[in-house]
Amino acid sequence: MTELQSAAQTRLKITEIFHSLQGEATNVGLPTVFIRLTGCPLRCDYCDTAYAFSGGEWIDIEAIISNIKQYNTTHITVTGGEPLAQKNCIELLNQLCDLNYDVSLETSGAILVDQVDKRVVKVLDVKTPASKEDSKNKFENFMFLNAKDQVKFVICDENDYRWSKQIIDEHKLESRCEILFSPSHDQLDATVLANWVLEDKLNVRFQIQLHKYLWGDKPGV
Ligand code: SF4
Repeated sequence: MTELQSAAQTRLKITEIFHSLQGEATNVGLPTVFIRLTGCPLRCDYCDTAYAFSGGEWIDIEAIISNIKQYNTTHITVTGGEPLAQKNCIELLNQLCDLNYDVSLETSGAILVDQVDKRVVKVLDVKTPASKEDSKNKFENFMFLNAKDQVKFVICDENDYRWSKQIIDEHKLESRCEILFSPSHDQLDATVLANWVLEDKLNVRFQIQLHKYLWGDKPGV
């Protein structure tokens, strides 16, 4: 293997690395370093990170880890775009776990997660009909979930809500992992979704995107 090939195998295309409060999932509110990988094969209707579809900068895994050490936190979230679209993401996750970081991975559910280190908390989207990318869901991913993992439904309307309940029942998700219901920002009133969850006595975690309430809908927060 040439030096050039070896270097290429440890690089990732990165849109941004930033320090913020975790805005979602069970670590909500904890200071966290976010590593946002560039690129995504999906085009969800409500996507709030379209700026990560292209551009970015190639950075060695070693340099990524050196960068995050400046922040005094053990919590790291690898996100995108779709981070698993880059093969070296698996190596980045392994190295972060070896360094004893508390690592979570935000993924679209459209790429198999079977190679992801078991120490990583997977936050796996299920794409609802209103995302217009529901045909990309790989439901076989549910087989690779552990109890600490989380499945997230971003719900845009009542049809999405009913569809999500059906998916939970069909795949017995309640017994597999934590389930997150999140209203699509600007599309569904958060209170409406909260009331549906209570009326139907669902065993799901309702959440809103904390960072958008604190800093608005913009990159780097
Ligand atoms: S998977 Fe995520 S990053 Fe990709 S288009 Fe959908 S919402 Fe955007």
